[in-house]
Amino acid sequence: MSESPNFDRVALIGIGLIGSSIARGVRKMGLAKEIVCSARTADTRRVALELGVVDKAFEHSEDAVKDADLVIFCTPVGTYVKIAEEIAPHLMKGAIVSDVGSVKQTAIDQIEPFMPEGVSFVAAHPVAGTEKSGPAAGFAELFYKRWCIITPSKTSSEAATARLSAFWTALGSDVEVMEARHHDLVLAITSHVPHLIAYNIVGTADDLEEVTQSEVIKFSAGGFRDFTRIAASDPTMWRDIFLTNKDAVLEMLGRFTEDLAALQRAIRWDDGDALFQMFSRTRAIRRQIIDAGQETGEPDFGRAVKPGSDT
Ligand code: NAP
Repeated sequence: MSESPNFDRVALIGIGLIGSSIARGVRKMGLAKEIVCSARTADTRRVALELGVVDKAFEHSEDAVKDADLVIFCTPVGTYVKIAEEIAPHLMKGAIVSDVGSVKQTAIDQIEPFMPEGVSFVAAHPVAGTEKSGPAAGFAELFYKRWCIITPSKTSSEAATARLSAFWTALGSDVEVMEARHHDLVLAITSHVPHLIAYNIVGTADDLEEVTQSEVIKFSAGGFRDFTRIAASDPTMWRDIFLTNKDAVLEMLGRFTEDLAALQRAIRWDDGDALFQMFSRTRAIRRQIIDAGQETGEPDFGRAVKPGSDT
């Protein structure tokens, strides 16, 4: 029998880009009788209510989780221990607790020990997002045709895992179930290291003395601006990701720096063949990403080019 994606009360702890996108999706697909949230700042609660994405917004997370049969942590990973401790005594027996954090082993280590008897914790990560933050940035289609990785652990019952999978499928995601440590390794190379490289290259450009700020901005279409989109991502969220996925990020960064040194050597020794081979291999990977429906194949990432503008 397939599990139902429907819940009575969905409680979202935190209502930023991801939380408000889930709320919108739940509303649009009719997946809950009631959607509530908690948010620490009055402004965030006010905006969430004004947008109509939630029915109620609480200051304290323990008030939001009362009577909720699905609770989802939608805050930065660094907040998990404090919130888990706060909500644990107020969770309903039979509730499913989940999260959307970008690092999964830490999520399990930090939340699961607090879960009371009869509550199933099932960690998850929707691999979808933008560089924007806050409740107004969300949209119901964010998860459509994007992967949601579910990483079950000790207290995840099979029924809870199946129900959470059905929930994410109803939000439009393709669901994959995987071991948490493997998730962290895969995401280290596909998301975390690329973000670190973007933060670093934008920082380096900002520090250069021989090239002025205005030149960096004026000639950014040469490639730099595509890094600036990633480097505009939320500093709190990304600080927490690097601190909680330390081992996997350092392992991938080691591989990356070795490969960078090989490219450096190829340039120094005029080894055009090595450069050409490498760049041909990477071009094929982009083709595969477009074919898999994870990116647009339009020129210049689908940006409209006005006559006379640079490309
Ligand atoms: P966001 O837009 O910045 O929203 C974060 C929410 O968490 C806000 O409601 C914020 O409340 C709350 N919050 C922040 N610090 C808190 C604290 N110390 N205590 C209590 N609440 C706190 O962030 P987001 O992009 O939705 O990301 C949320 C989670 O989703 C993160 O764990 C991230 O790893 C994961 N994720 C993000 C993306 C992405 O691309 N953005 C993709 C996949 C997964 P206030 O507004 O009141 O400050």
